[in-house]
Amino acid sequence: MSPDSPAQQVRPPGPWQPRKRVTVIGAGVAGLVAAYELERLGHSVEILEGHLQVGGRVRTHRFVPGREGPLVELGAMRVPTTHRRTMRYLRKLGLADQLREFTTLFQDDAAYVQTSQGHRRIREASEILVEELRGRLPAGRFEEYDEQTLLFGAWMAVRVNALAPSDFRDSIRRGLDGELMGLVAGIDLTDYVRAPGAGGELIDLRALFADHPGIRAGCRGRLYRFVDDIVNETSSTLMRLSGGMDQLVHRLRERISGPVRCGKEVTGLAVAEHGVQVRTRHGFGSAGRLCDYVLCTIPFSVLRGLELAGLDEEKLAAIHGQRYWAATKVAFHCREAFWERDGITGGASFTGGLSRQTYYPPVEGDPKLGAALLASYTIGQDADRLCRLGRRARLAAVLDEVAAVHPELRRPGMLLGVADQVWGTEPSSLGAAAVRWGKDADSCEAEREMVARPQGRLFFAGEHCSSHPAWIEGAIESAQHAVRLIDGHQQGEAAEGACAAVVEEPA
Ligand SMILES: Cc1cc2nc3c(=O)[nH]c(=O)nc-3n(C[C@H](O)[C@H](O)[C@H](O)COP(=O)(O)OP(=O)(O)OC[C@H]3O[C@@H](n4cnc5c(N)ncnc54)[C@H](O)[C@@H]3O)c2cc1C
Repeated sequence: MSPDSPAQQVRPPGPWQPRKRVTVIGAGVAGLVAAYELERLGHSVEILEGHLQVGGRVRTHRFVPGREGPLVELGAMRVPTTHRRTMRYLRKLGLADQLREFTTLFQDDAAYVQTSQGHRRIREASEILVEELRGRLPAGRFEEYDEQTLLFGAWMAVRVNALAPSDFRDSIRRGLDGELMGLVAGIDLTDYVRAPGAGGELIDLRALFADHPGIRAGCRGRLYRFVDDIVNETSSTLMRLSGGMDQLVHRLRERISGPVRCGKEVTGLAVAEHGVQVRTRHGFGSAGRLCDYVLCTIPFSVLRGLELAGLDEEKLAAIHGQRYWAATKVAFHCREAFWERDGITGGASFTGGLSRQTYYPPVEGDPKLGAALLASYTIGQDADRLCRLGRRARLAAVLDEVAAVHPELRRPGMLLGVADQVWGTEPSSLGAAAVRWGKDADSCEAEREMVARPQGRLFFAGEHCSSHPAWIEGAIESAQHAVRLIDGHQQGEAAEGACAAVVEEPA
């Protein structure tokens, strides 16, 4: 089901398919898409959202509120064009004109990369990186590979360093040196290697992986998900939304006619025979009511802290066992896009240290209002480390590290403001994204099924319930799946009068 599909025409409820009342918990992408699609199918919907705003992990920060000035994405920032569901929604919601190419890590070869000899421009770093690879490979292995395969191995290792969380880096790098280079060794890479200074990535990984699906298929265990993510993450067909990613969630909200109740934090869920008892916070206490159908999109990291009753043991184990990664972003509001004078037109540097990735978002709106620099984007343990520093020390550490690459940041009046988001401790998500790395395709699917499995009339959606965790695509996929289940659910005897049954309890 998609906004393009015939299902979007509101289907009049009939005796064969009684209209259902669905309470959706969470107004992130999953909750909003589900509410939108359920209404298209003729069901009635209300949304309970704990935050004062909709959007969840889609969060756009505007440094100059109310004016067309610099903005930074503190949550999701790019969409691979291969994410068909997301692209379709963006088009359907009238946002196609706002889509622009997202220049990502290593795409602008004037940006910097951390090497064993300090920071180097990407276009000047290959030799050093190949030498680093020589130091890592077991004796005799280096000589087995031709120059192009070594270049591939060297730049893949940088990607592992830049993109993988620290607890995965060593094992992925071992797999890369031992397994992935072997898979690539027989391929003529001439067409995929670009000359330094020609612009763009030095190795066109997206084209390489697209032309040779056997590479991805041959990857096992931890390498499997990494290669999948790396292809998405460094693909040259990533898009961003000019004007902010939050337009996606605001457009969805505008199209939902049922109430979207923000500031309604759910504190407990109990599966009952004919519905689900939902408790919400009321001042220092809580109030409960019986809802006919509930779709819960709360991340499991948060859900496991709620009062839960009536769920089976396996489901509770899935809720408690789901792993999440942290992510931290630190952004600077700068007087001007000083990096452009340094020849950097976009993309990102791998600054290393605690800061890891530094992105140069395009200047939009009035340049007199300044420019945004996403100084640091970290995930996993790197994000935890930054989080533990505390805000003042975190901002100082990022400024120190990024100013070592860009001393312009120290010029008086250059730094106008900061914005940061620590997703690991953000109460509404307690993490950035569900993790399935380190598992093969079958285990990922078995886990997804368990995580998404309904309990009575309690249904589940959210990126964690999908085959694309950590992406908007996953949130949409899971919502569409849950909508199909709810729509097809037989109300049976419990249906009688259930649609109107909402029992308010005293606080
Ligand atoms: C730093 C970062 C970068 C990312 N980058 C990208 C990217 O570039 N591209 C991409 O496609 N994806 C990206 N993602 C992932 C993407 O943002 C998520 O997969 C997607 O937004 C998740 O949507 P969701 O609806 O599943 O969850 P959420 O957006 O988390 O929605 C859940 C909602 O439930 C609410 N809630 C929580 N607890 C309660 C409660 N007790 N009561 C009521 N409401 C509650 C929350 O406030 C929230 O609004 C990124 C995520 C992060 C954090």
